[in-house]
Amino acid sequence: MSLLAEAAESAAAARAGFRAFVAERVAPHADEFDRAQAIPDDVLADAAARGYFGAVLPESVGGGGMDMVTLGELHEEIGRGCSSLRSLLTVHTMVATTVRRRASREARDRWLPALAAGTARGSFCLTEPDAGSDIESVTCAATPSGADYLLDGTKKWVTGGQIADLLLVFARAPAGLTGFLVPADAPGVGRTPVHIVLGTRASMLAEIRFTSCRVPASARVGAEGSGRMVATAALDLGRFSVATGCVGILQACLDASVAHTARRAQGGALLRDHQLVRRMISRMVTDVQGARALCLQAARLKDDGDPATLEATWIAKYFASTAAMRAAGDAVQLHGAVGCADGHPVNRYFRDAKVMEIIEGSSQIQELTIAEHAYQSAEPGRARG
Ligand SMILES: Cc1cc2nc3c(=O)[nH]c(=O)nc-3n(C[C@H](O)[C@H](O)[C@H](O)COP(=O)(O)OP(=O)(O)OC[C@H]3O[C@@H](n4cnc5c(N)ncnc54)[C@H](O)[C@@H]3O)c2cc1C
Repeated sequence: MSLLAEAAESAAAARAGFRAFVAERVAPHADEFDRAQAIPDDVLADAAARGYFGAVLPESVGGGGMDMVTLGELHEEIGRGCSSLRSLLTVHTMVATTVRRRASREARDRWLPALAAGTARGSFCLTEPDAGSDIESVTCAATPSGADYLLDGTKKWVTGGQIADLLLVFARAPAGLTGFLVPADAPGVGRTPVHIVLGTRASMLAEIRFTSCRVPASARVGAEGSGRMVATAALDLGRFSVATGCVGILQACLDASVAHTARRAQGGALLRDHQLVRRMISRMVTDVQGARALCLQAARLKDDGDPATLEATWIAKYFASTAAMRAAGDAVQLHGAVGCADGHPVNRYFRDAKVMEIIEGSSQIQELTIAEHAYQSAEPGRARG
C-alpha cells in the first residue's frame, strides 16, 4: 500500500472512531445533558480515555500528536452531537496548547501530562463583566508582590469553569496584559456556576473571582505584557474549533431536516416534495460543504505553519457560524411546532448556533477584521483603521 493510501486509511479509521463515540455516548443523550446543564463525568472520562482532551499535545507528554485536519474532523463530529461537549474540548485544547507553547518549564512539567490525559481540565479566562469584544478593557489586576503576583478581579462566562483544574487567566501587570496559569483550587479563587445560558447549556460555565490570589512568577505565560499575543494565538485555535463545530451543527440540521421532511406529509404530499422545502435543503447542503471546505483550508494552513491561517480561520468561523444559525433557523421552520418543543434536537441546534455567532469573536468583530484585511491587502502600507 502506498504512503498516501495508508494515510487515507488511518484518517478514515480515526473518523469512524469519532463517529462511533458520538453515536453511542453523545448524540442520543445531548438533550439530557442540555436539560441537566452538565456533561456527566463518565462521558468526559470516556472522551479523555480516547485521547480527545490531549489530542494535539505531543506524544512525548502523553498526547495524541494529532494534526489540525484531524482535529477539525474530531471537533466537527463532536459538534454534530453536542456543542457543549465540543466547547469544553475547545477551551481545554486552547489552554493545553498555550501551556505547551509558552509556559515555563516548571509549569509544563507540572501540567502537560495531566492535560494530555484529560485528568486535569483547562478553562480560558479572558472575558470580564465589563470587558468582552475589546480585550484592552480587561481590568483584572496582577500586582507584583515580592517574587509573586497577586491577582484581583472577576472573570465571567468561563466555559468549563465549574469543573476546571487549571485556569489560563489574563490580567493587567505593570508591563501590560499578561497570561497566568492558576490552579482552580488555589487560595483566593472563588467560582459561582452560571446557569440558564441560551445555548451550550451543558458547558458548565462559571463566574470566577480572584481575591489577592497569589501566584509565583513561574505561573506567568511568556513575558509580562505578552498577553494579547498569547490570547490571540489561543483564540485562533478556539475559533478554528468553533468553526468546525459549526460544520457539525450544519450537518446535524441537514440530517434532521432531510429525515423529517421525507416522512411528514402536508397538503397531500410529503414535505420534501414541496419546492420551497427543497430550497431550504439545498441551501443547507451548500452551506455545510462550503463551511467544511473553508475549515479544511484553515486546517491545512495551520499544519503547514502558514500565517495565512489566521485570516482563513476568521473567514471559516464567520461563514460557518452564520451558516449554522441560518440552517438551524430553517431546521426549526421545517419541523414546525415539534421543532419548537423542549427537548427536540433542532431546538437545541438553534440555541447553540446563536452562541456560535458571539463566542471567539462575534460576527461583527469578524466582519471588521475580514474587511480590514481586505483593505490592507489592497494597500499594504495602510495603518490599521
Ligand atoms: C456560552 C458562552 C461561553 C463563553 N465562554 C467563554 C470562555 O470560556 N472564556 C472567556 O473568556 N469568555 C467566554 N465567553 C464570553 C465571550 O467571549 C464574549 O461573550 C464575547 O467576547 C463578546 O463579548 P460580550 O458578550 O461582552 O459582548 P460585547 O463585547 O459587549 O458586544 C455586544 C455586541 O456589540 C457588538 N460589538 C462589540 N464591539 C463592536 C464593534 N467595535 N463594532 C461593532 N459591533 C461591536 C458585538 O458584536 C455584540 O453583538 C463566553 C460567552 C458565552 C455566551
